[in-house]
Amino acid sequence: MIRPIAFSLSVAAILLSGCTPVSPAPVATAPAAAPVASSPLLDDVRVLSGDDMQGRDTGSAGGERARAYIVSRLEAMGVQPAPFGRLQPFEATGRTREGVKRFSGVNIVGLIPGTRVADRYIVVTAHYDHVGMNDGQIYHGADDNASGVATMLELARRLKAQAPEHSVLIVALDGEERGLLGAREFVKAPPVPLSSISLNLNFDMTARAETDGHLWVTGGYQHPDLRRILEPIPAQGAVSFAFGKDTPQDTGENNWVDSSDHAAFHEAGVPFLYMGVEFHPDYHRPSDTFERINPAVFTSATELAIAGFHALDKGLDH
Ligand SMILES: [Zn+2]
Repeated sequence: MIRPIAFSLSVAAILLSGCTPVSPAPVATAPAAAPVASSPLLDDVRVLSGDDMQGRDTGSAGGERARAYIVSRLEAMGVQPAPFGRLQPFEATGRTREGVKRFSGVNIVGLIPGTRVADRYIVVTAHYDHVGMNDGQIYHGADDNASGVATMLELARRLKAQAPEHSVLIVALDGEERGLLGAREFVKAPPVPLSSISLNLNFDMTARAETDGHLWVTGGYQHPDLRRILEPIPAQGAVSFAFGKDTPQDTGENNWVDSSDHAAFHEAGVPFLYMGVEFHPDYHRPSDTFERINPAVFTSATELAIAGFHALDKGLDH
């Protein structure tokens, strides 16, 4: 997730003034009473936010390792490539703390065919890049956005066990932190016609819901019909949907319509919903680590996101 540029720069200034590196603790050995301490969902976040991923900056060796991991997960689940292949490489100008620069990025795309309306698509997105390393410190990006990728992979796993009604594109986007670069490439050269996409459902920061107990849904103001489908869904554990951050009255960092990859779909006229948690003190800091994720909260937020997907899949295109 990205904040408006002026705010990002002020955050960068604060970051420069005093952060201590946080080295990851070994993965906790789960006591029997903690059933969610290990799962594919948690393993994916742990791996993607590990030191060897070096913050997953677009075009970096760490980003390439993250990509190889995600591709291997999709292959292991039997998620087939998109019509144009598994990968969508691109070059684009993106922003850094020092100014603009050219980036080479690669989106990862999988396809899960639908049963009821196979010619209509739900495009599920989650960006796998993060901001890399700054001043020798790894920005781990566990919540932002290893979490969203893990939620998306968990959804893919469920859909391989029970096929969706719509065809689903599972898209791990690159270059989000540099200015939604991968999302803009995707809508510029989509693997299926944009007119066949019923919805972009974007996951960005799905773990740290403990701040206010909510997984926020942005886009309901623009698409009240979509919001109505999600409103009846009950809380999962300690996490419930909250709707907003999308009206003309929501300004600055309290408006999330342009804050992540869904903005590229919205600008292209594709209906969108964004799901993500409130900002927290570890946002865009080296301390956004796996260890700071509450496994039960993250698992609940993921269950809620998946329940939301199923309601939309069943509710659209009748
Ligand atoms: Zn971010």
